Amino acid sequence: MADAKEAATSEIQTGRVRPPVDPATLAHRDLLDGDFWRKIPAFKDVTEPEFLDHRWQMKHTITKLETLLSVMAGLVDEGFAADAAEGFRIAPMAVRVSPYLLSLIDWDDPLHDPIRRQFIPLGSTRLPNHPRLTLDSLGEQGDAPVPGLTHRYPDKALFLTLDTCPVYCRFCTRSYAVGPNQEAVEKVSLKARPSRWERVFEYIASRPELEDIVISGGDSYNLRPDHVRLIGETLLDIPHIRRLRFASKGPAVLPQKLLSDDAWVAALVGVVERGRRMDKDVVLHTHFNHPNEITRITERAVARLVSDGVMIRNQSVLQRGVNDSVETMILLARRLSWVNVHPYYVYQHDLVEGTEELRTTVAHAAHIEKHVRGSLAGYNTPTFVVDAPGGGGKRSVHSYESYDRVTGVSVYTAPSVKPGEHFLYFDPIDKLPPEGQARWADEAQHQLMVDEALAAAGA
Ligand SMILES: *Cc1c(COP(=O)(O)O)cnc(C)c1O
Ligand code: SF4
Repeated sequence: MADAKEAATSEIQTGRVRPPVDPATLAHRDLLDGDFWRKIPAFKDVTEPEFLDHRWQMKHTITKLETLLSVMAGLVDEGFAADAAEGFRIAPMAVRVSPYLLSLIDWDDPLHDPIRRQFIPLGSTRLPNHPRLTLDSLGEQGDAPVPGLTHRYPDKALFLTLDTCPVYCRFCTRSYAVGPNQEAVEKVSLKARPSRWERVFEYIASRPELEDIVISGGDSYNLRPDHVRLIGETLLDIPHIRRLRFASKGPAVLPQKLLSDDAWVAALVGVVERGRRMDKDVVLHTHFNHPNEITRITERAVARLVSDGVMIRNQSVLQRGVNDSVETMILLARRLSWVNVHPYYVYQHDLVEGTEELRTTVAHAAHIEKHVRGSLAGYNTPTFVVDAPGGGGKRSVHSYESYDRVTGVSVYTAPSVKPGEHFLYFDPIDKLPPEGQARWADEAQHQLMVDEALAAAGA
């Protein structure tokens, strides 16, 4: 009996074999290679060793309008250049973009390019903010017992070690602190100072329930190697701390650092190894949003960390015109998995000043989630979450108590974080049906729509 069964299963059952795949479904393995940056006139003489050196990248990172315009000269028409100049002028978030990212933009169609959309604001695409938007919509400061530490969840906390990043993302949810002051925004100061960190360490040591610390910023790429060690080792030495994650967008925007900044890599790997010897878990969390951000350079950079035993997870932000299609999101998750980065979260875009055209609806996020789930290994399937405005924390997009697709108001609860409270997310108004748009145009309707949503949620 056993033999017969084995014989039957060892042969390929021709009638049950899946048809051969279309090679296009393996596009996630085609990584951009070669000296692609030379297409940009300003970088046409840049050699590979220069381009792969993080110091060259940092030195040529663009923060000024004039530099951006000079790099774009010959690539875009006057109309686009004027549009970008206006975008720069009204942007609430400082602009900072690496030559690497600029080289990944399709300059034949910059208007629609997913990387351009994330880093170079335009005047023409700007939409009015949602009327319910506030600075620090996640309420991170409200849950901060000491400056730069948000302790919202029972066993984990978010440590904002500094306020700078290798690039600045237009959609940054921490624009209340991150980046230089803009005219429109007076920022909270979170400098990289061991004296400020002391208070954070003392608080963490005094709270035995804390086991898990997110070391973020800003961006931990911008921490000096000795500060990476200081923070990592101090936290590992607190007996009840079991898990650390360094958060950095770096691998997505400046992978060169992982290839050429040996001191920084050694510091990170040193903390990971020290953690392992102590039976503690130290990983890196990063932030890729589009498959075009993953190139052969990324693959090499990530492989260096992986071979040194560093586990890497990814958190993306769902953005309209960037990654809000099923195809793009599946390609992103597959490509991340291919280079050994685990897709962890996809965030619904927070309500952030000046980024309304990048947000999309909860219904659309739920639609994409349904299609992504089932296309990859379960552990490579990101969880789609709404970080509930007002400090409810991350909630599965599907888990709303009520959701009105006409007004775009969804209501979430967070029983383990803030029991009894209700948290509202607001879809972007221009994506609502005409009836919903009309109601938002009438200020007298605003509170009514909120009250209706809360009533539907049983609040
Ligand atoms: C996201 C976040 C964390 C970490 O949450 P995970 O779901 O474990 O990734 C911790 N604290 C705050 C305030 C956060 O926003
Ligand atoms: S890297 Fe992160 S913290 Fe820095 S600007 Fe981008 S989203 Fe904000």
